[in-house]
Amino acid sequence: MLIGLAANRLHHQTEDAALFALLRAIEPGIRELQLGLHAVGRTYDAIAAADMLHRYPQLVRYPYGREGGLMKLVAEVVGMGDGRTLDAAIYLTDPVDPSSIFPEALALKRQCVIHGKAFLSTVASARDWIEMERIHAGLPQDRNADRFHDYENQTLALIAHDALKPQMLEFAAQNFTLLSRFRRRVGTGTTGQNLNELAWSKGWPQDLPWVDRYNSGPLGGDAQIADLVLERRCQRVIFFEDPHVARQHEADIQLLERAVTTVTHEAVCTTTLKVAQRWCDAALLRA
Ligand code: PGA
Repeated sequence: MLIGLAANRLHHQTEDAALFALLRAIEPGIRELQLGLHAVGRTYDAIAAADMLHRYPQLVRYPYGREGGLMKLVAEVVGMGDGRTLDAAIYLTDPVDPSSIFPEALALKRQCVIHGKAFLSTVASARDWIEMERIHAGLPQDRNADRFHDYENQTLALIAHDALKPQMLEFAAQNFTLLSRFRRRVGTGTTGQNLNELAWSKGWPQDLPWVDRYNSGPLGGDAQIADLVLERRCQRVIFFEDPHVARQHEADIQLLERAVTTVTHEAVCTTTLKVAQRWCDAALLRA
C-alpha cells in the first residue's frame, strides 16, 4: 500500500510536534505493513532531521509544496499507474496555517472522498487507520490503539449530505450493533431524523432517540457538532460528504473538518463509506 504524507509546519516544528508523535506510534505498523510513503519536501526533511523511519527504503521524498509536492499527491490519489497510486493520504493540518486552504490542500481531500480513499487529517485518524489495516492484515492488536476502540465511553457523530443519505442509512442498518455501542450518537437534523426512524424500526425504544439531533447542516448543525469536537465531547465523526454539488454551507463543512484537526490527538474523522465500512469490519475482528 502507498500513502501520501504531508504536515503543516506547526506539526514538525518541535520534538513533541504531532508528526513525530504520530510516527513514534505508527512506525512499527508502517514497517509491518511495508507501507510506501510519499512525503512532501519539508515533511520528508523533518523526518530525516529527526532520524525517524531510519533507513526505511520505502520512504520517498517528494518536492516542496511550492514546487508542486502536494499537487503531485493529489494526482496520485486520483491514480497515476503502478507505483504512483495512493491508497490514503495523511495531511496533518494546522487551521491557522494559510496553506491548509490552498486549492491543492482542498483538492487532496476532495479526491480522497471521490475515490473512496482515506483522508487522514489528524494524528488520531492516522493511528486508527493504521491499526485498522493491521487488523485486516491479521496482525495482533496494538494495545496502544485500544483507546480508539473504547466506544462505550465515546460519542460518534453521523452526518450525510442529501445524495448520500441512503448510503448512511444502509451503513447504519448494516452496522447497527457496533454503532449502538457508543455512549452517545449525535447528528445533523435530517440525517439524525432518518437514522432515528431506522433505529425505531429496528426495535430501539420508541421514546429514546438513537441520535441526538442538532440543527440541519445548512442551519449550523456542523458548527454545533464542531463545538462538541472542540470540547472533546465527540471522538469520532463519520461524514459522508457529497463532493459533486455546490454546497451552500461550504464554510460550515470546512469548519467541522478544521475543528477535528485542532484536537488532532483525540478526534477521528472518516469521510467515505468504503473507509467507514472497513473500520467497522476491523472493529468486529478486533473485539
Ligand atoms: P442534514 O445536514 O442532516 O440536516 O441534512 C447535513 C448537511 O446537509 O450538511
